[in-house]
Amino acid sequence: MKKIVLLFLVSFAVLQIQAQDKITKTSPRIMILATGGTIAGSGESSTKSAYTAGKVPIDDLLNAVPQIHNYGKITGEQVASIGSQDMNVVTWLKLSNRINQIFKENLADAIVLTHGTDTQEETAYFLKLTVMYDKPVVIVGSMRPSTAMSQDGNRNLLDAVMVAASPRSQGKGVIVAMNEKIFDPRDVTKSSSTNLETFLSRNFGPIGLIYDGKVSYYYQSLRNSSKKFDVSKLTTLPQVEIVYGYADASPLTVTCLSNSPIKGLVYDGMGNGNFNEPVGKALAEASKKGILVCRSNRTGSGRTTLENEVDDAGLGFVVADDLSAQKARILLMLSLTETSDKIKIQQNFFEY
Ligand code: GLU
Repeated sequence: MKKIVLLFLVSFAVLQIQAQDKITKTSPRIMILATGGTIAGSGESSTKSAYTAGKVPIDDLLNAVPQIHNYGKITGEQVASIGSQDMNVVTWLKLSNRINQIFKENLADAIVLTHGTDTQEETAYFLKLTVMYDKPVVIVGSMRPSTAMSQDGNRNLLDAVMVAASPRSQGKGVIVAMNEKIFDPRDVTKSSSTNLETFLSRNFGPIGLIYDGKVSYYYQSLRNSSKKFDVSKLTTLPQVEIVYGYADASPLTVTCLSNSPIKGLVYDGMGNGNFNEPVGKALAEASKKGILVCRSNRTGSGRTTLENEVDDAGLGFVVADDLSAQKARILLMLSLTETSDKIKIQQNFFEY
């Protein structure tokens, strides 16, 4: 009996060594870039919602989920420590340049980016359009801070590492992994300010699912993912602002912006991107002054289509297609770094 137990123990030890050997030889190098957000948030109480975002440093974040080391050689780097409401163009450029450098110098096989959820979708779309490589960049966050009861950050981080390590994620480029779902950056949006199940793609759904350690993909966006904007030499982007549409809106905001040095304006209109007469006149004036006016819509799904109730060609407007206003702003800022040709920019909205 003793011999059998000994034999069992020895074989178990050999299997363990072989398994570990396999991890060290074949496991991907995954770099975790931290920017802050609730996933690095810390609060006084485990049951109250008040907390400060971006407080927990990367090492503590990684130490809290030791299981991530089963999926690859993990390293961490703190890029920022902010609530993502403070995300800005300068940090986007910094992130994009750092990710391009990591892949160019072959420092990692995949990246996991921890991020606040407020502007996660915007960072994801910006990186999708500016990261030159198609290696996995998995953006993750959480809705509850690390100190909360039933917090979601640890599980989301482990899932994101699994997605980054999965051979199925090869060639997927920038993606968002939240709450057991995987999304394409151009389609994903935060849909609830407080609920755990907040990320969704209203028009098309998630592209994949994560469950029980398994990563499965079901769909892929056909929007051109090979088009990349080179931001490596930029320190800023052309300024584009967003104006919200509503019943009885006055033209004041558009008129003020027309007299400012902005280069583009996204008008987030009612229904199919509609405006009332005074706002329409102000937008036409802005367009005449050389400001690129793009119509999006505030409904949260569907598309903003050309030439339905609005004479886009006559007024010199372009439409955002199915992009939300905040993502249309990103594509417009990036497009304006290459051209001010309206036909070309409209084409960008139909292709990217
Ligand atoms: N406002 C914070 C942020 O976006 C907290 C939201 C979150 O991460 O869930 O970073």
